[in-house]
Amino acid sequence: MVVLVTGAFGQLGTALQLVANNYNTIQFYFANSSEADITDKEGLINLYNKVQPDFCVNAAAYTAVDKAESDQENAYKVNVEGVRNIAEVCNYFNTTLIHISTDFVFDGHKTVPYTEQDVANPQGSYGKTKLQGESEITKNSEKFFIIRTSWLYSQFGHNFMKTMLRIAEEKTTLKVVNDQIGTPTYAVDLAEAIIKIILSGSKNYGTYHFSNEGIASWYDFAKKIFELNKINIDLQAISSSDFPTPAKRPKYSVLDKSKIKSEFDIQINNWEDSLKRITN
Ligand code: NDP
Repeated sequence: MVVLVTGAFGQLGTALQLVANNYNTIQFYFANSSEADITDKEGLINLYNKVQPDFCVNAAAYTAVDKAESDQENAYKVNVEGVRNIAEVCNYFNTTLIHISTDFVFDGHKTVPYTEQDVANPQGSYGKTKLQGESEITKNSEKFFIIRTSWLYSQFGHNFMKTMLRIAEEKTTLKVVNDQIGTPTYAVDLAEAIIKIILSGSKNYGTYHFSNEGIASWYDFAKKIFELNKINIDLQAISSSDFPTPAKRPKYSVLDKSKIKSEFDIQINNWEDSLKRITN
């Protein structure tokens, strides 16, 4: 079984590289953004001809949430046009696509976890392009799994946990919002789930939600990061209105994971347990 990973040197891609070592029945091909630029369809076709993948995990995306507000053209180019290319090329080569989407497709008005049936209504440009990317997949490919996830962090790439740890080296006081509720998700746990899907042989294509278990605000997440790392910092809870950002974010974006758990028999770790694992 051959699995092509695009965006393979981003956070999730690197997590996939880490866990890939445990699965020697899969031949992984990790492509960076120059070798597999998803906005270049001809380049993708050449790569697919060479690699002949059974699966493509698309971990490539425009992920700068705030920057996307003023840089909509580039966000669209990657998250919509690029995803359309991947979907079309996967369909042509009979490759199953596993694509990663986001909790930011939801408006955050709910107070109980979002299921795959809930209507998406993104608040910002990033979320809008990610949702459009999803519909490019449903329109242009037949064999696909879209996995929506939330608040990814890990020892790799750029993420909230690493930002907190960096700030703690520079400052003694920090304010973090406590009125956006979601679930931190360890990228390595997501990578393991993706491999489980690949190995399952399931043909129940469609959209699935995956995050760690539990809920938190960004303030709770920061507090736990500092606690586990034994960092003493004056952490203050603030509301989103005290911390305006270019992109509007959902107030509540907890994902319901029932579907992925039952279809693929996946046991999901609590976010605090996964955070502990990477800290120790
Ligand atoms: P990263 O930003 O760490 O990685 C994205 C990767 O995409 C980078 O390696 C980047 O390469 C690559 N990339 C950008 N443009 C292109 C392109 N045109 N062609 C090929 N590759 C490209 O993101 P994450 O790993 O954190 O995110 C993985 C997925 O999860 C994304 O789909 C994201 O939308 C989704 N997601 C992320 C969340 C998070 O909190 N991070 C939360 C919810 C969903 P380069 O650096 O060389 O440009």
